[in-house]
Parts: sequence; structure tokens; C-alpha cells
Amino acid sequence: MSTIFVPRETQSGELRVAATPETVKRLVKEGFAVEVAAGAGEAASFADDDYQAAGATVAAGGSAWPAADVVLKVAPPTPDEARALRAESLLISFLAPHKNLDAVQALAERRVSALAMELIPRITRAQPMDALSSQASIGGYKAVLVAAARLGKYFPLLMTAAGTIRPAKVVIMGAGVAGLQAIATAKRLGAQVEVSDVRAAVKEQVQSLGGKFIELPMQESGEGAGGYAREMGEDFLKKQREIVSRHVAGADVVITTAQVPGKRAPVLLSREMVESMRRGAVVVDLAVDSGGNCELSQPDREVTHDGVHVLGFTNLPATMPEDASTLYARNVLALLLSISKGGVVTLDLADDIVGPTLLTHAGEIRHQPTAAALAAGSAAR
Ligand code: NAD
Repeated sequence: MSTIFVPRETQSGELRVAATPETVKRLVKEGFAVEVAAGAGEAASFADDDYQAAGATVAAGGSAWPAADVVLKVAPPTPDEARALRAESLLISFLAPHKNLDAVQALAERRVSALAMELIPRITRAQPMDALSSQASIGGYKAVLVAAARLGKYFPLLMTAAGTIRPAKVVIMGAGVAGLQAIATAKRLGAQVEVSDVRAAVKEQVQSLGGKFIELPMQESGEGAGGYAREMGEDFLKKQREIVSRHVAGADVVITTAQVPGKRAPVLLSREMVESMRRGAVVVDLAVDSGGNCELSQPDREVTHDGVHVLGFTNLPATMPEDASTLYARNVLALLLSISKGGVVTLDLADDIVGPTLLTHAGEIRHQPTAAALAAGSAAR
């Protein structure tokens, strides 16, 4: 029987937890022994008593790290947390490896098998484990709510005795998982929604949600591998900014979610475009963690420029910790169930989910871009 430990998250602003009483109950039923750090679920509204009732033991302090066979986390471990793991144990977590090279190095040195939730391939069998999607959807939803709360105007059309209020105009850039949820949420609040994306496949999805698709002069396809976007050249991005700027100038809210895997996020909203917007307008940049879609956005800050409020969020899903944890914990559970039997984990490196998701194993860094970044870092030292 393997022992699972669920620590309390330590990263600032990380209010989620990697297991909920619901998933603990299932893990215990499968034959795992589960230990949860005292208060681990508190910020997400899950009480220690509920974990105990689900069959977990609740541990005070951090002593459970070195005893556990499996550790479940949300945010990447710090290098110290990575070193606290038992040698050859299993870690399941978001790992953001490009930003956490020291922790990755420590995981490899401890010969930890680290499954990175962001590396789960987007194949049909892995859909229940797709934490990028479950969390991005929350980010898109919350971005609209944050924008609506910051905007000094209504979203819906209102006919009142004091006259008519026009509906808010919302422009959404990037119609992936977060963007589609943002469209649906903004429409439900009654806004008019316009959308820009470089993948042709998106147009129909946007229209089916009631959004208006902004046509771009695509010389070549914006589709990249695995359903993601390709990195577009600066000439294209310049033309895109010209076209989109007409829509942005009339917008009350702009929400940007455009990303290209492994690359800096494209700059879609220049300083001049922000300056063309009306005073009181709101920009929410969800790509700020990968460089930002807006030239003026800053991580987890509000910048007011010419009366326009530019908000950059690095971790909006964590601001809705209860449902974010519920979904993330189910993603983790699905992964754990797929690699275990009777509470014992067996890693099959040839498996089409385990293979690409395993970042470190047996002292090796298996994810090539991360191994290359670490090698480049040590060459520079
Ligand atoms: P993402 O976070 O990498 O990017 C968000 C959006 O930004 C994408 O739609 C992308 O096309 C867009 N974008 C990139 N450059 C742009 C630019 N210059 N201008 C405007 N938009 C730009 O993507 P994501 O949300 O993680 O998902 C991308 C796709 O993968 C979606 O179509 C989604 O439906 C699909 N998906 C498939 C599965 C599966 O098959 N299991 C699971 C999840 C997502």
C-alpha cells in the first residue's frame, strides 16, 4: 500500500489544494493511505474534519514529506520542498519547469518521479486529467467577473425610466479554453462580444457562443501542433494589431488570453491601443505570466494608464479555490487511478500519458526543453 501526502500550499496567493475530501475518499477506497497536512484545505473551504471523515489522517507540521510514497501538490515545489521528498518517491503537481529550474534539479537529484500536470497530452484518454483546461476555464470566467466589477458601467442593455443604457462592448483575444469561457460568461452578463484568434477552427465555436469573430488576413494557418496556436511573425502581429485596434478603441473591456506553448505570449495590445480606449475601460491580461498580451500589464498589479485600468493576473484560478480545487483534485485523481492498482503505483514509461508527462525519473530530466535550459544555465555559470 502506498502512502499519499497532501501538503498545505506555501506559494503566496495559492489557495488551492491538490486533494479534496471527495478524492481522498476514493483514494482510500482504492487502498491508498492518505495523510493531509493540517489546514491544507482551509483556504479552499475544506475542513480537516472532512478529510478525516473521508478516511485521511491529518498531520501537523511538515514531517510527512519524507515518509510519503506519493506527494500531491498544486503549485510547483520550492527547491527545499523538492529536497524534502523521499528519494525515488512520486510527485504530482504543476511544475512550471522553465521557471523552476532549481527545483527540477533538486527533484532529479532526489531521483523523484515528477509528473507535471501541464505536460499531460491533450489526447482523448487524458481529458479527465486535463488540469490546464479545468483551471483555464475558471480563469476565463473569473476574468469577466473581475472586469465587470472594475468597470463603472453595466454589462447588459437596460431600458430604464431614466433612459437607455447601452450594453458593454467586450473584446476577447485568444479563444482557447479560457477565452471561450470568457465569451460565454460575458454573453450571459449581456455584453456584446467580439473575438480575435489565429486558429480558423475557432470561428465557429465563437459564433456558437454568440460572439462576433474578427476576421484576420491569414496568409498561412495559425494552427500549430496539438490543437495549439503557432507563433506568428512580427509582420502578422503588426497587421493584427492594426485590424483589432478599431475594435479595441470602442471597447469597454478587453480580455486577453492568447498564448503560444513554450514561447513568449504575443503582444496584441500596444500602449497606443490602450491610449485609444475610453477612460474607465478595463483590460484584463491573463497571459501576463508568459510576458503579457498587453504592453502595459504587470504581474498581479493594476496599472492605470490614461484612465484605462490594466489588470494582470498570474493565478486567477486560485481566487476561486473551492471549485478550482474540486476540479484539479479530480484531474489528479484520474491520473493517479490510471497509474495504480490496489493502492500501488506502477509507472509505465511507454504509456502515452505517463511518457510525456514524466518530467524527472530515476535521476534523469526527461523533458527535453527543460534539460536543455538547465544545460544552458550550467554552461553559463
Ligand atoms: P492556449 O492557452 O495555448 O492559447 C489560448 C488561445 O490563444 C488559443 O486559442 C490560441 O489560438 C490563441 N492565440 C495564440 N496566438 C494568438 C494571436 N496572435 N492572436 C489571437 N489569439 C492567439 O490554448 P488553450 O486554451 O490551452 O487550448 C488551445 C486549443 O486546444 C483549444 O482549441 C482547445 O479546445 C484545445 N484543447 C483540446 C483538448 C483535447 O483535445 N483534449 C483539451 C484542451 C484544449
